Amino acid sequence: MAATPQSDVHAPYGPLPDGGTVRPITRWGTPVMHRPQARVTVFDDALRRLAADMVATMYAADGVGLAACQIGEDVAMFVFDCPDAAGERWVGVVCNPEVEVPEGRERRLDDDDEGCLSFPGAFVECARPDYATVRGQGLDGEPVEFSGDGLLARCLQHETDHTLGTVFGDRLPARARKKLQKLHDKAADDYPTTWPA
Ligand code: ZN
Repeated sequence: MAATPQSDVHAPYGPLPDGGTVRPITRWGTPVMHRPQARVTVFDDALRRLAADMVATMYAADGVGLAACQIGEDVAMFVFDCPDAAGERWVGVVCNPEVEVPEGRERRLDDDDEGCLSFPGAFVECARPDYATVRGQGLDGEPVEFSGDGLLARCLQHETDHTLGTVFGDRLPARARKKLQKLHDKAADDYPTTWPA
């Protein structure tokens, strides 16, 4: 994905926290990834440092989103830096996210490829609503809301799923899951357990 100039980044609630440390990415199969994460109730410096580590790790892994459980933390929070269908980049931090997708006649599925940093090296088609809104809280506990289409819609759904203990493999039919596993196994040597630290 081509990088867009920094001035084109939409950060309605401020820039992502920086200065974090790149940490190894937790993989599917680790218990913390398969249960709902603890809600954020204290908005302090430790939370901001965790978010900064998540941002550093997401960029090091060339990801567009990362949830706290993906660096082993049982905290319902994710960060993202992701383009929408028009190529506009959106960045944010969401604690305690709740996602809303169109229902009924408004609902259209998009079956583009999806991948997960916690199951690296593999992408398969995954059907999801083509628009999503996420509501939650920012790092100071303030209400935040993000909406979008394209990859951003997919990202907002994927990351909220993580905070609920769901990985996108759980949403795939058996055949697609098998294909995903195969691709992942083939690429395993490129992703040692310390990756991307
Ligand atoms: Zn993921």
